[in-house]
Amino acid sequence: MVRVPNAKPIDSPRCDLRLPNAALRYRMTASPRLITRDALGAINVTAWLYRDRRGIEGIQVNPNVPIAELQRVFGPAPTPDAEVGFHSEALAAEWFRIRPDLQVIQIFSERIPCRHMCAPLLQHYYPGVPWYYYYDAGSWVGNRGELLKRAGDILKNTYGL
Ligand SMILES: [Zn+2]
Repeated sequence: MVRVPNAKPIDSPRCDLRLPNAALRYRMTASPRLITRDALGAINVTAWLYRDRRGIEGIQVNPNVPIAELQRVFGPAPTPDAEVGFHSEALAAEWFRIRPDLQVIQIFSERIPCRHMCAPLLQHYYPGVPWYYYYDAGSWVGNRGELLKRAGDILKNTYGL
């Protein structure tokens, strides 16, 4: 059983736990399975709950395109986190953009959508849709500005992997 994620805003409806379950299932069924600390750190999985015109619900799951894959194509990047690459939320937003019949109801992302790119994108195109997440780097900054916990550590613990 997955843990209940954090919500933003905090008084949002409860997260539909099929979303984090879908993200975990994606990791468990990938080949190789994406459950090492490195894989949990390099890849962010997002899962969006939507409803179609007939009222039928579905879940769309997207991983980011991790740096390793970009490195193979474009050469080395300067950071070991999923902060570069094509972000999962942007890929999901694009998937929904070309399917305007689908109504997005909840957005789960293992990490909170990044402040510079995904947050403004989601706020613009999906206003009022609540976010759910397990990891927020902003909650793990120490007194000297250092990062106390990385996403891989938090997700490993949260998923019980
Ligand atoms: Zn992002």
